[in-house]
Amino acid sequence: MFEEAEGLLDELGLAVAKEMLPAKVESAMAKELSYAEFLKEVLEAECSTRRHRSYETRLRLAGLPHRKGLATFDFNFAKGVDKTTISDLASLAFIHSATNAVFLGPPGVGKTHLSVALAMEALAGGHSVYFTTMAKMIRELLAIPTRYRARKYLAPKLLVIDEIGYKNLDAKAAAVFFDVISARYETASVICSSNKGFGDWGELMGDNVLATAILDRLLHHCVVVNIKGDSYRLKDRAKQGTSAHLDVALAKAKGEAIEESQPF
Ligand code: ADP
Ligand code: MG
Repeated sequence: MFEEAEGLLDELGLAVAKEMLPAKVESAMAKELSYAEFLKEVLEAECSTRRHRSYETRLRLAGLPHRKGLATFDFNFAKGVDKTTISDLASLAFIHSATNAVFLGPPGVGKTHLSVALAMEALAGGHSVYFTTMAKMIRELLAIPTRYRARKYLAPKLLVIDEIGYKNLDAKAAAVFFDVISARYETASVICSSNKGFGDWGELMGDNVLATAILDRLLHHCVVVNIKGDSYRLKDRAKQGTSAHLDVALAKAKGEAIEESQPF
């Protein structure tokens, strides 16, 4: 009965609409829908399936380390994180204006959590996202011939570069980082997180001039969130033990970061 219509939907590549056509016709008759309402229902079924598939694909390609959202972020624990600032970022206006965000703070204060949460908002909002750490990005980009480098790090609407500062960069690595920031400048957003304040980036890049050029572009249109306070990872231990225990654990965490600090 629907063969011709199904053939046309097939030709248009509307597989879901084709599959659902008989059921939609039946329910339209039962609900006495108008032609326009019926058409809307069929197209809506096709669109929502496509949107869902696109979300699943983008989520897979984003390479998120976990899926912690804003709902599980405790704004009362985090010091220096203004809920309104994060809500503004979650509205995704920053992606439309190619504005950046930088989370600064010591280990365990929620920099990665907030970056992932905003990445998930961006994915839900229909944007493409790629999450990486500085170490992984540099390793990959240095391994790829220059002319192929661009796509993975330049194409996504939002690039998250986590863990800037755990390792010093040599000249080649710093140049690659500059290329990424400079290519995305005023074109597409970057979220960076770092345990090092901007004042230390010159030393981190081994080049004050290059670090200034990177920061100049990164910070021109940027929301900077300076997170202070104790590590969330250690908060339960702090409750159990004395503050001396916490001091030792924190010193250890910071020491590990320093030990890892070899150039690429
Ligand atoms: P950072 O990237 O700053 O080192 P993470 O974002 O990895 O820290 O946070 C460490 C752990 O603590 C994660 O499991 C994270 O979900 C949790 N965490 C950190 N801050 C908060 C917070 N304010 N509310 C809820 N969980 C938090
Ligand atoms: Mg982190």
